[in-house]
Amino acid sequence: MLKRTAQNTILVAGGAGFVGSHLCEALLRQGHRVLCLDSFLTGSMENVQALCNFREFRLIRQDVIEPIRLSETVERVYNLASPASPPQYQADPVHTMMTNVVGTGNLLALAEAHGARFLQASTSEVYGDPEVHPQPEDYRGNVSCTGSRACYDEGKRAAETLCFDYSRRGRADVRVARIFNTYGPHMRPDDGRIVSNLLVQALRGEPLTVYGTGEQTRSFCYVSDLVAGLMALMEAEETPDGAVNLGNPGEFTIAELAALVQTLVPTAAGVVHRPLPEDDPRRRRPDIGRAKRLLGWEPQIPLSEGLPETAAWFARHLGQSLPPPPV
Ligand code: NAD
Ligand code: UDP
Repeated sequence: MLKRTAQNTILVAGGAGFVGSHLCEALLRQGHRVLCLDSFLTGSMENVQALCNFREFRLIRQDVIEPIRLSETVERVYNLASPASPPQYQADPVHTMMTNVVGTGNLLALAEAHGARFLQASTSEVYGDPEVHPQPEDYRGNVSCTGSRACYDEGKRAAETLCFDYSRRGRADVRVARIFNTYGPHMRPDDGRIVSNLLVQALRGEPLTVYGTGEQTRSFCYVSDLVAGLMALMEAEETPDGAVNLGNPGEFTIAELAALVQTLVPTAAGVVHRPLPEDDPRRRRPDIGRAKRLLGWEPQIPLSEGLPETAAWFARHLGQSLPPPPV
């Protein structure tokens, strides 16, 4: 376990984003010094405003595609720098691919130069539209390398390749987390992912947009559970041999999620169906056997608890009060 002294310095690339800002806070609360490196492409100052009150927090505005030079030595590098929402990562697909390949390469080189341990935020998208269900880490996936999601899926796959080559060559101690759909406070209202879209639409009294029939499934992990998993993986004494899935195995159809949101936020104005995006995975659920075995980690917060928390946060964020649920 990393000693909890002020001398331990941790770089969080993508630290001003949704997950990264929670990770920075958890690391600061453990007493570490945190360097948050972010281009603010999808992150926000608002996410890290409160962290600026910690003396041990430093913000570096930089794109990971550019060479990274730090004035102090770091012991850990978390790489979360990449847009994660389909509309966001498809807005500039070439930049997304470069962020994941060149950016991960730059951060791995930095970890090697500093002798720092490295954690890569990979994704369940490496499994594409899976033919194996639930998805274990040894499933190699069903990914299109030419479709509109490829800039992200293939970018993350190439990033994993870089990670494992650095590891095999003994150039860095590397851990790879394959993160499944995560939600919670600090998601941007215009992020475009399902949980933020539905909650914001419901709070604004708009219809909920369900793409396709709504029969496709996802498994939703609350952000504090994910952050605990990322930190456990980074601090595991033994380097796992391969990637580790982190996610909540509770699986829901999108139609079920929309129904839950309507119960929680009664101002929702029904559901409208929109076309299903290209290459949208039909189902997704993590096999978390490895994480349980190697890290003793499993999620604690079911959707029935995390979704109301997130709805209340969005309501506050949008300057509204959450109407009481119907009796
Ligand atoms: P996010 O978009 O909220 O955060 C990403 C952060 O990275 C933002 O602050 C953004 O400004 C920054 N960033 C993007 N490109 C950059 C670049 N070129 N240089 C520097 N900074 C850059 O997304 P998130 O949900 O917090 O995801 C964090 C990480 O976890 C991402 O790598 C994502 O791929 C991975 N992940 C997230 C989920 C999820 O459900 N949240 C699922 C799978 C994987
Ligand atoms: N989705 C939807 N309505 C929305 C946003 C997303 O029905 O307003 C669907 C999307 O097509 C996908 C699922 O919800 O089937 C999860 O989408 P998200 O973008 O959150 O994550 P990902 O597809 O990357 O898992």
